Amino acid sequence: MTRVVIAGGGFAGLAAALFLARRGHVVTVVERDGAPPHGTAADDVDSWLHPGVPQARQSHALLGRARRVLVDEAPDVVASMLARGVREIPAVVGAGVLDEQMLLSRRLVAEAELRRIVAREHGIRFLDHDAVVGLLVSTAGIVPVVTGAVLKSGRRVDADLVVDAGGRRSALPEWFAQAGLCAPVEERQECGFFYLTRFYKVKPGCEIPLSKIPASVALDYATVFALGADNDTFSLTVTMSVNDPYRKALRDPNCFEAFLRAVAHSAPWIRVGTPISDISMMSRIENRRRRITTSDGPMVGGIVAIGDAALHTNPTLGRGISMGLMHAQHLAEVAHLAPDDPVGFVETFSAWTDDHLGVWYDTQVAADATSLDRLAAGILGERFEPTDTPASRFAAAAFLCASNDEVVGVAAARVAHLFAPPGKAFGDALVASRINEFLARGESLSRPPDVPNRKTFELLVTA
Ligand SMILES: Cc1cc2nc3c(=O)[nH]c(=O)nc-3n(C[C@H](O)[C@H](O)[C@H](O)COP(=O)(O)OP(=O)(O)OC[C@H]3O[C@@H](n4cnc5c(N)ncnc54)[C@H](O)[C@@H]3O)c2cc1C
Repeated sequence: MTRVVIAGGGFAGLAAALFLARRGHVVTVVERDGAPPHGTAADDVDSWLHPGVPQARQSHALLGRARRVLVDEAPDVVASMLARGVREIPAVVGAGVLDEQMLLSRRLVAEAELRRIVAREHGIRFLDHDAVVGLLVSTAGIVPVVTGAVLKSGRRVDADLVVDAGGRRSALPEWFAQAGLCAPVEERQECGFFYLTRFYKVKPGCEIPLSKIPASVALDYATVFALGADNDTFSLTVTMSVNDPYRKALRDPNCFEAFLRAVAHSAPWIRVGTPISDISMMSRIENRRRRITTSDGPMVGGIVAIGDAALHTNPTLGRGISMGLMHAQHLAEVAHLAPDDPVGFVETFSAWTDDHLGVWYDTQVAADATSLDRLAAGILGERFEPTDTPASRFAAAAFLCASNDEVVGVAAARVAHLFAPPGKAFGDALVASRINEFLARGESLSRPPDVPNRKTFELLVTA
């Protein structure tokens, strides 16, 4: 039995608490925000103040892998989400259909349901409206070891293992600095765009369009997302460059909707929806990874980070919750090893994180490397053409093939839903041969021209 303190009760922290408690560990969850209200799903969204999660009112979906972890660890959570109006749809990409499902929900509806189940679970203590502000550290050994957490309320909680699940705003570097520990090693990549999201309810008598993964279409100067959610709701999202001179115009509901009506991907959605929210903005989008192990070994024992606190990616591909739940599941599987060897535990946990989650971080960083250039060109009404390499041609062909070739479609779906990393799925001999045949036929790899083009977009948002 391991005594675990979890700093942060978002998706990763809540899931970790549940999975740990169901293996007999004793868990304290410290969460700076309060509990969701007792009421309807709409109340979860309208009345649950959750400022600790700045993206709470942005569009979210739980991809196949996130649902799979929940089904394997806590099927009651999925059942309870479905009873609350969360929708389950097949995990499909193009012509590829997996024997898996994904979940569509407003984030706060799904998270509130998870939280209610965690709060009822034996072996979990919740300390709400409090925060971890520092660490208790023993320096008796060669490597310092964290032995507990100091809370904002002044309380001290002893633990065999402290878990930072504080999300993208995790204060791990401050805790380390205060405790006199070396700073975690951090990589970050600014993505250079921001999100605008609005939620809608389907009008009576209308059908909600089919949600697809990928849920977006990329224009040169913006990306548009359409995604179903719980209880006949859906979200429409636009991402644009933080340098776009028209960025403020699009926050006006009339401009936002005029633009979405002009994009073929979102037009059928906007026709059937009545707005049920304001337009929420989220900026400062980045990819960030923090490590507390270097080539010399762990800087400290007795503490690990999971979910967004450890590594988070630009959410365009909706990977965050899946990664957080995979992390939580692994933590629960190995937590019994922490008390006897707190330093070795950090080392092996870090290695697992690099091996199993690092690939999703690395591929996102590579995909985003040219996104700033694409948007910069798009603002000028130009098209950015990435360098033509065999790898870029293969990737473009894989994307196009997936829409009507079942074998490639299944590989793409396994990647999109985080069941297999791209190198493994597309490196499969049959899949690769299908993509190479497509390339050999000399079919066009270029994207169709933007509709609306930049000029029309500018006219639309200034009209
Ligand atoms: C615009 C946008 C859209 C997204 N869309 C998707 C999507 O469609 N699908 C998907 O899978 N992912 C999506 N994500 C990513 C997803 O939101 C995150 O990956 C996920 O929430 C990470 O879970 P977490 O528990 O690590 O962090 P969070 O969910 O952010 O939770 C962190 C929690 O820690 C608490 N906290 C922080 N510090 C402390 C402290 N010191 N003490 C106590 N409590 C603390 C906070 O209050 C919060 O409750 C999106 C992200 C963004 C920005």
